[in-house]
Amino acid sequence: MLTKPGEACQGILIVDDVGNWLSEFSWQRFTGEFETRQSRSGGGGQKTLAQDVPEHLRIRAVEGTGEWEPYRPFQMTEKPYLHFAPIEDESSLRWFLERFGPLTRDGTERHRGDVVDVMLGNASAMRDIWGAANSGDGDLHLDDDRLRIRSPMMWFARDPFTKKVRLSIQPQDLLAGIWLQFGFALSSPITIKACRHCGAWFETGPGTGKKVTAEFCSAAHQIAFNNALKGKKKG
Ligand SMILES: [Zn+2]
Repeated sequence: MLTKPGEACQGILIVDDVGNWLSEFSWQRFTGEFETRQSRSGGGGQKTLAQDVPEHLRIRAVEGTGEWEPYRPFQMTEKPYLHFAPIEDESSLRWFLERFGPLTRDGTERHRGDVVDVMLGNASAMRDIWGAANSGDGDLHLDDDRLRIRSPMMWFARDPFTKKVRLSIQPQDLLAGIWLQFGFALSSPITIKACRHCGAWFETGPGTGKKVTAEFCSAAHQIAFNNALKGKKKG
């Protein structure tokens, strides 16, 4: 049976004793194709105002080419924020959407889709915050226009494992969940790094299986980087 877009988007994050969160958050991804189209934002079906609404490049699922499947993005071993933050263009954004599903509720709706500029703006803001976090000093300048984070709902829930009552946070879409995941990582003993060879983001430090000093996402990329360096010196 097909899941109606929107129905599967629910669930909570529960913050545990040490500030970790349990990712009960459920979202949906699309097994079919995505397309990029220029379209108006169609604010609430007010057609008379359509001319005043600017057109945006949007990426959306192509109806009939696949199915919506519910899943829990924050239970994946591959953390979505690590794949989201390095996105700099439309093609890598599309790759992300094919893998993790739309980022916003607009993205799950038939005639809408995720707005490319807004999503790229969020990713670039995330990189700026990360850069400021790594520089250790200086003011944090953020262009608020790039950010469209929907505030999470906060409440209390019983931890399904420990049975203790804990703070729960409910992101309203995948994008908001990704910001939370990034924020929790930033506030934890983990250090977020970008691979010197490919630019991919990865985590180092306690519980990540990587030394804090690691500079590459994989051993293969360390070798590739060093080989390229040798090649340059020779050449
Ligand atoms: Zn790499």
